Amino acid sequence: MSEVLSHNQLAAIADEFGTPLYVYHAEKIAAQYEKLKDAFAGQDVVFFYASKALTNINVLRYIKSLGANIDCSSVNEVKLALHAGFAAGKILYTSNGIAFDEIEEAKNLGVHINIDSLSNLEKFGKKFGHSYPVGIRLRPNILAGGNLKISTGHDKSKFGIPVDQFEKIIDCVDKNNLFIQGLHIHTGSEIKDADVFVKGIEKLFDIIPHFKELEFIDLGGGFKVPYKEGDSETDIHLLAEKVKESFANHPNPRHLQIWFEPGKFLVSEAGYFITRVNVLKKTSSTVFAGVNSGFNHLIRPMFYNSYHRIENISNETGPRKIYTVVGNICETDTFAEDREINEIKEGDYLVFYNAGAYGFEMSSNFNSRLKPAEVLVKNGTPVLIRRRDVFEDLLRNQLEAQ
Ligand SMILES: *Cc1c(COP(=O)(O)O)cnc(C)c1O
Repeated sequence: MSEVLSHNQLAAIADEFGTPLYVYHAEKIAAQYEKLKDAFAGQDVVFFYASKALTNINVLRYIKSLGANIDCSSVNEVKLALHAGFAAGKILYTSNGIAFDEIEEAKNLGVHINIDSLSNLEKFGKKFGHSYPVGIRLRPNILAGGNLKISTGHDKSKFGIPVDQFEKIIDCVDKNNLFIQGLHIHTGSEIKDADVFVKGIEKLFDIIPHFKELEFIDLGGGFKVPYKEGDSETDIHLLAEKVKESFANHPNPRHLQIWFEPGKFLVSEAGYFITRVNVLKKTSSTVFAGVNSGFNHLIRPMFYNSYHRIENISNETGPRKIYTVVGNICETDTFAEDREINEIKEGDYLVFYNAGAYGFEMSSNFNSRLKPAEVLVKNGTPVLIRRRDVFEDLLRNQLEAQ
């Protein structure tokens, strides 16, 4: 089975289901998961899909069928994971900055929990003592990731408990007789360099001996995927080798399982976002191609300055021309500036690549526009997995006050 959907397949799917449309390719997700499993074969590693990248329950079920566990960033994601059939023991809830009630709710659902503040750790200890295991999310003070917005391990980041507050952590753990099952670090997204993970591990080695009941080290997610030609992916084989090496160099009194939380790595390239060109507009300097979408559907280019390859699948052989691809909402929502694309006519389909992760998931109804539909292609067959919003959806939760 091919790892990519062809222009013809995508155009046929767009004809059938309409645009704007998110399309996910199951076999590509499987291929990415296999890559991880292959590289870490022989090591005691468990992969938790970071579901915030894409939470459609059909995708969750598919990823479960591959054998992966799941990482959640809210209690609602935990509930979606349970709904998709994940056993509680395969679900990890990595909270950040949330109210203690939500941690309690996750505890009542029986899932693994990583706690990321001293105050919640303290509350957890007071209430549950040694009766329920928890992981601690540490902030290793490492700067990593594509840019500051997606980098979470550095000194000014809100995520995790800073490692330099280690004594306070130990105080809290001792005082409350906490059962510390794991240590967690997640340094950011789009980390190309395997050494960043190794640096993270090294930071943990001094700390590990203080926790006598430790069972896992969770190294988070953030593996990089290619966005454009010439881009590289995190070298997973090299990473696996280096992880193995660093654990061999620091033999631990206890056997520790290694956990990873890949989000983007599993679903980014499996996703395609298909739009249609509404208008072409020429100015003295620019030709705008305005599509039937905007940052209400795909915000990454505007929010993270991310690059998404764009192809005109309606004109595969046309001459290459320069376009600025923009959306149709009342904001500057530029998807791509001065991009070379095969000649565009109004009505053509433009496909955005790498749209699986943080695409639909970050969409909104801004401008009272409707959210797109989602389709999953498995064994060559496209199936609708979320209907397109309809007008009534905009009114659904609104109340008539008078
Ligand atoms: C977002 C997140 C991930 C996944 O990051 P990717 O860049 O999508 O791999 C993993 N772990 C945690 C705690 C996260 O917040």
